[in-house]
Amino acid sequence: MNYDFLIVGQGIAGSIMGLQLEKYNQRFLIVDKNEKITSSKVAAGLMHPMSFKRCVLNWKGETLYDYSHQFYTKCNEILSDKTYWEFPLVRLFQSYEEQNNWLSKVSTKPFVHVLSEREEKFDNINNPFGNGRLKKSAKLDASAFLKNVKLYFERQNNIREESFSTQNIQKDGYFYKKGNNLFKYIIFCQGPFVDEFNPFSYLPIIPNKGEILEIQSQFLPQFILSKGVFSMPTAEDKFILGATYNHNDLSKKITEHARLELLSKVKTFLPQNNFKIINQKYGFRPTTIDRKPLIGNHPILKNAFIFNGMGSKSILMAPLLGKQLIEHILFDKKLSEAVNVSRFDHYFSAQHKELCSKLVT
Ligand SMILES: Cc1cc2nc3c(=O)[nH]c(=O)nc-3n(C[C@H](O)[C@H](O)[C@H](O)COP(=O)(O)OP(=O)(O)OC[C@H]3O[C@@H](n4cnc5c(N)ncnc54)[C@H](O)[C@@H]3O)c2cc1C
Repeated sequence: MNYDFLIVGQGIAGSIMGLQLEKYNQRFLIVDKNEKITSSKVAAGLMHPMSFKRCVLNWKGETLYDYSHQFYTKCNEILSDKTYWEFPLVRLFQSYEEQNNWLSKVSTKPFVHVLSEREEKFDNINNPFGNGRLKKSAKLDASAFLKNVKLYFERQNNIREESFSTQNIQKDGYFYKKGNNLFKYIIFCQGPFVDEFNPFSYLPIIPNKGEILEIQSQFLPQFILSKGVFSMPTAEDKFILGATYNHNDLSKKITEHARLELLSKVKTFLPQNNFKIINQKYGFRPTTIDRKPLIGNHPILKNAFIFNGMGSKSILMAPLLGKQLIEHILFDKKLSEAVNVSRFDHYFSAQHKELCSKLVT
């Protein structure tokens, strides 16, 4: 069978790539090895355009948010299930300085569409420096979204459970050949771990471990709270507390260190006897040294592309950046320099070139 695209990986990146390709009437196949624990399967699902530490917007935060909001709203319809909602987020200020900073920005551009000075009153939450609410915040139930996307593509025969290896593909003229199938393009959406034979193995993708706690509490509100950690409601009295960041620990297990870190942070707003831990989970985010995604062409393999490195912001970034990658491939539209993987071409050595030689036309 002839396909336009092979997508490797069905995390948030690969799922969104498939949904976007469908809009461009491209014929594609997704392969995913269905690991039990992946970053996308544990993601809390938070989406907003702010970086709270410095009270600034993320890179292209508002544009990405507005596009993603429309995209996921449409996905609710296409997948016939609601996995995305706008969801209030209240920032508990950590100091008077943060409060002043927020309030001084509330009515100035570009924050006027994002920050609000509306303050919540709490009975059971420590809130000595006050709080502010976001006008743009949402939640994607990432694991339900992935399951729905998988079912949706299974119905169309667009997805297979399979571990991909470049050792199983050959170049056949303009196409990549895998078994009896021919593909015009391959997009690698493999997240933080790629094997040494992968054409993109030269890239400095840094797995950043994140851990979350699932807790039960009668005292947390039914909206997202953020103060060093966030609490996100998942049911009437159940919440996710997250998340830790650790690029030194590659162990595939939950840790006491992360649990204590989350507990010490949540203590600043919720007394410890006001909740009970039910579960703890971990995953590895695909991050990069300059904290920007990795998108675009392989240095020498024509028609091999990467869509990766979205760190802790893939829910916000993937829909618009996925569209831009497709338009780059199909219509030669220019990618933003900030995310273009070509910024790391100097990491591509003679040894990497040798590894890729059988796939060069
Ligand atoms: C604790 C935690 C909380 C988080 N919370 C949020 C949040 O609230 N909001 C947010 O936006 N982000 C959050 N993130 C980050 C988010 O999870 C990641 O940005 C995102 O999941 C990355 O998606 P991905 O598709 O690039 O990678 P992955 O999720 O790793 O997906 C890659 C997929 O490719 C498959 N694969 C890999 N190699 C192969 C192969 N050879 N053959 C076949 N399949 C293969 C894997 O099995 C996997 O299914 C969180 C992360 C963690 C760890």
